[in-house]
Amino acid sequence: MSEQEFFGHIIDNEEVESLSGERFEVWNPWKREVWAEAAEGAAQDAERAVSSARKAFDEGPWPRLGRVERARAIHRLADLMEARTDDLARMDSTNMAKPFEQATHDVARSVWNFRFFADHQRDHVGEVYPMDTGHHTYSEYGPAGVVAAISPWNFPLMMATWKIAPAIAWGNTCIIKPSEDTPASVTLLGRLAVEAGFPPGVLNVLNGHGFPAGAALTGSYDVDRVTFTGSSITGRTVMASAATHLAPVSLELGGKGANIVFADADLDNAVYWAVEAIFRNAGQICLAGSRLFVHSSIYEEFLRRFVAAAEKLTVGDPFDPATRFSSLASKRHFDKVVSYIDAAREAGGRFLTGGVADDGSWVVRPTIVDNLPLDSAPYCEEIFGPFCVVNSFDTEEEVIHLANDTRYGLNAMLFTENLSRAHRVASQLRAGTVWVNCFFIRDLRTPFGGVGDSGVGREGGNFSREFFTEPKAVVMQIAR
Ligand code: NDP
Repeated sequence: MSEQEFFGHIIDNEEVESLSGERFEVWNPWKREVWAEAAEGAAQDAERAVSSARKAFDEGPWPRLGRVERARAIHRLADLMEARTDDLARMDSTNMAKPFEQATHDVARSVWNFRFFADHQRDHVGEVYPMDTGHHTYSEYGPAGVVAAISPWNFPLMMATWKIAPAIAWGNTCIIKPSEDTPASVTLLGRLAVEAGFPPGVLNVLNGHGFPAGAALTGSYDVDRVTFTGSSITGRTVMASAATHLAPVSLELGGKGANIVFADADLDNAVYWAVEAIFRNAGQICLAGSRLFVHSSIYEEFLRRFVAAAEKLTVGDPFDPATRFSSLASKRHFDKVVSYIDAAREAGGRFLTGGVADDGSWVVRPTIVDNLPLDSAPYCEEIFGPFCVVNSFDTEEEVIHLANDTRYGLNAMLFTENLSRAHRVASQLRAGTVWVNCFFIRDLRTPFGGVGDSGVGREGGNFSREFFTEPKAVVMQIAR
């Protein structure tokens, strides 16, 4: 990568400037300097991208390619991504200070998104419905059309591929708008799609800000599906915009995940996952275990170990192999997390460790706080940073109530060695995913999404198929 790389739009297999010629600066948050520029998309650029995708869908070969050829093309892209793993990971690390080892892991997961959905659509089966009327019915899953995908900055490549992979695998064409903070890896992905021989218009990358570029996509009458990951507030705007042309939406939004540690938990395991759940990616994870509930009988012991483990995390340059934890992804986000730290102090929270690094960097150290009022903003709202609020509990009923007492419902974790309790509590938690004695493990066949303010719809396996296709029932008369 040169010092000042440029990331254009990729429209119709060409990397282009915006029609206005405008660009915006791309930051390296660890070094606090501009390292690249990207094309600043406006409504007219969005229109170009949408009409390219529309033409590719209505007239191009992609939806008509057949499932085996399409899978082959997607595997070719996955091969190229694998070969460029270091470049893709370096872009995310540079662009948002993700430790390089974690960014490398994200690339592997992104490759798997493509391989999984390529094979999933290649091998899928429809349903046959025997009827007693002298007919039979079967289902078909045809592509939905043009997909607008809007992805966030916390997993720049991984979240984008989680949307693009099922969309194109099922024969749709796609426009991805990465976050303005992290355009690099997704633009490289677009270049690789060209290299892999994708027909023009199948995968377009539109760079720019949420408004106007993202909004122009979600509001376009030529877009048939909108898939979005980001904040709950923007999710509402996206849904309203898609409603103007009745495009179905899939929204993966914020979270305030409960992490419950019962007295009989394997404490080493629970501490390990508690650290991963809130400090991996500096807590910039919608699935973060940001509310930790620990049984009162082990409260002090657990906190002692948890604080010690948090303080051991090596904070530093994302490219240093020893680094487990680096700066936040942008100055804007740093300021937001700092405002919650200030609010937690004002609300009387007890800081067990952490706080702002105070060295001019955009680092917030792994922070653990208890004694926060249950109606205070840092307890209730998604902070999206390395900030864990801890509470004790005495009974199962009490902790289920505490865990569910939130507008969010993306995920929860629970740690116990009691099998019956694990099942009983898991089934009562209001969340899209519950992890028992683990965290972050995914099987891509399973539903992923949240309830309440955490989202609308589910993706993964057949759930992605339902969203990215137009299922059709074909009824045949067989009796004469
Ligand atoms: P946003 O929800 O604003 O951004 C997410 C994506 O949506 C970005 O690509 C953004 O573009 C785009 N966008 C913004 N406005 C619009 C619009 N009107 N129409 C279409 N697309 C739009 O998140 P932020 O980056 O502002 O982060 C704010 C908070 O959101 C975080 O602090 C965190 O709490 C939460 N968040 C949750 C995520 C999750 O994984 N669930 C991921 C990211 C954030 P652009 O970047 O150019 O604004």
